[in-house]
Amino acid sequence: MKIHEYQAKEILRKFGVATPQGIACFSVEEAVAAAKKLGGSLWVVKAQIYAGGRGKGGGVKIAKTIDEVRQHAESILNMTLVTPQTGLGGQTVHRLLIEQGVDISKEFYIGLVVDRRSQRVCLMASSEGGMDIEQVAAKTPEKIYKVLIDPTTGLTDEEADDISCKIGITESCIAEARKLLKDLYRAFDDTDASLAEINPLTMTGNGHIIALDAKMNFDDSAVFRQPDIVALRDLDEEDPEEIEAAKHDLSYISLDGNIGCLVNGAGLAMATMDIIKLYGGNPANFLDVGGGATAEKVTEAFKLMLHNPKLQAILVNIFGGIMKCDVIAEGVVTAAKQVKLDVPLIVRLEGTNVKLGKKILADSGLPIISADNMADAAKKAVAAASASASGSKAD
Ligand code: ADP
Ligand code: MG
Repeated sequence: MKIHEYQAKEILRKFGVATPQGIACFSVEEAVAAAKKLGGSLWVVKAQIYAGGRGKGGGVKIAKTIDEVRQHAESILNMTLVTPQTGLGGQTVHRLLIEQGVDISKEFYIGLVVDRRSQRVCLMASSEGGMDIEQVAAKTPEKIYKVLIDPTTGLTDEEADDISCKIGITESCIAEARKLLKDLYRAFDDTDASLAEINPLTMTGNGHIIALDAKMNFDDSAVFRQPDIVALRDLDEEDPEEIEAAKHDLSYISLDGNIGCLVNGAGLAMATMDIIKLYGGNPANFLDVGGGATAEKVTEAFKLMLHNPKLQAILVNIFGGIMKCDVIAEGVVTAAKQVKLDVPLIVRLEGTNVKLGKKILADSGLPIISADNMADAAKKAVAAASASASGSKAD
């Protein structure tokens, strides 16, 4: 799960991380009022979208007067911001962060991620902070230093000071950097984050260390115990199909192909996509309906898949274990009737009461193509999809 920069900064502030003062706004008038309230003589108007690279795309602008704050807010709010991370379609800006302008003397990069190989949180840091860290990672990876943090001790003073020295934080700022790094680690650990990135971490003209940007992602498997984080979710920024799927407890990911897959169990869903590929087809989505393939769930899954204009066939691949095949077959028939399915439907059932399940499908009066095993199902789905793509739908 992702959140906005201003929300990440609010969390980090609670853990003691130094950030500029800022106010989130939803309109130009609010932006002007925020700048007046913050005071000072330099402000930054920042687009709040989940993607990074906003500076390069024109979504971060410095203002020296209140009038400039207004102009920048007018131009950024509602713009379609295209950055290397948004994809070509870009992302519409609905929120702004008006922040105190900081006198930057040097920009660093710091990030915390979960390193799966070592099963530890990895602190990464570089002297080359700012807007080109991806280039640094690609071309001069030796300029990125790493510490694998022992979960029993957390980030130690020695580790913090060592990495700060390596990236060139000056002696007088080492203590402040140590505090910030340790606070950042605590924030990461306490909130079940999967990523916390400060780019840039800045040394100011008067020698302070402050987080100018903040990005935090959270482990979806842990958000159930982070209600405060879940409350920050901005649905405007997320894939509508995936939001809809989550509401019905379906794991759904859109893909590029034309064969919709409805499967129970993530492993079987992966195998189904593989076998579709093996027989020359392309899956339109990953969809795991979970343990209970009820009529309601299958109906919602069909609806989701049917939103996809490329869809040419649906392959249902269900193993009836705890849930029996006859119950699943009833569910598939009810759902197909309810959504008035107009693409070929191939169903492979296996498991408890499979014969009864197949009979229910056959007696349903629906043009369901029944398959005996996975290979048979994949072949039939690929054939049906190409037939329906060429205009002669299998039904
Ligand atoms: P992004 O990473 O999406 O491009 P950032 O928040 O990193 O967005 O902003 C881009 C650049 O704008 C930063 O590298 C920094 O140089 C400058 N910047 C951001 N916030 C401030 C601020 N409060 N004061 C001064 N400069 C800033
Ligand atoms: Mg940044």
